[in-house]
Amino acid sequence: MSKVVEINNLTVQYPDVKALDDVSLVVNQGDFLGIIGPNGAGKSTLFASMLGINTKYHGTIKFFDEDIRKSKSYLKEIGYVPQKPIFEKNFPVTVTDVVRMGLRKESDENKIDEILQQLWIHELRERRIGELSGGQQQRVFIAKALVHNPKILILDEPVTGIDQQSIDLFYSILRELNSKQKITIIWSSHDLDAVNKLANHVACLNRTLFFHGESEEFFSNDELVKQYSEASMQEHMHHH
Ligand code: ADP
Ligand code: MG
Repeated sequence: MSKVVEINNLTVQYPDVKALDDVSLVVNQGDFLGIIGPNGAGKSTLFASMLGINTKYHGTIKFFDEDIRKSKSYLKEIGYVPQKPIFEKNFPVTVTDVVRMGLRKESDENKIDEILQQLWIHELRERRIGELSGGQQQRVFIAKALVHNPKILILDEPVTGIDQQSIDLFYSILRELNSKQKITIIWSSHDLDAVNKLANHVACLNRTLFFHGESEEFFSNDELVKQYSEASMQEHMHHH
């Protein structure tokens, strides 16, 4: 099994809050890792650090055995789907335009049609992005993240505000990308049931990593699941 990501003692201190505290984590090729944790747990900060967006961290982050401070070449192997952006209805770019932004080489233009078909949005290709439903927009952003053939797909809480039918389609697409195309998936989510069904590894993050292992081990341990649920419920009440 080859390591694609190795994080050691990652700590991120913002001016007002320590967002991550001594987090260590390994992701192997082919893993489907679900990262669960309440609001403010540090999930987006973890991704921002892995993607080189946040460079103010202590510890080390390696992709393919190479420190990301030394080389940015790992970025071409990553597809990233950020938390949902919102578009005005008339925002003047089409589905094809958005997906094309994900290309690293113009010569790969022919990949666009292929990925649009794979994500069930080919017939929407000339539509404006702002006219689409949340679920359709989400698939466009996954297509953008995948069009350059990355080995790793990173998704940050991607189902907020999307209808159930689109969520189901989205999950079946993720499962297929992981099982058939062998893409390593790192996915943060609030949905414990979905993580249970899809992921083969689980990381529970709440500033520190309080569990990381096989998802079977996590979900068969009632005490762990209860701890997680209580922590996120408290967060939920703080935020509402
Ligand atoms: P999550 O994605 O799990 O909700 P975040 O990583 O967004 O968590 O946030 C973790 C903590 O760090 C929160 O307290 C948040 O307010 C804070 N935070 C996030 N980004 C920044 C930033 N760029 N500057 C300062 N504080 C931040
Ligand atoms: Mg977040």
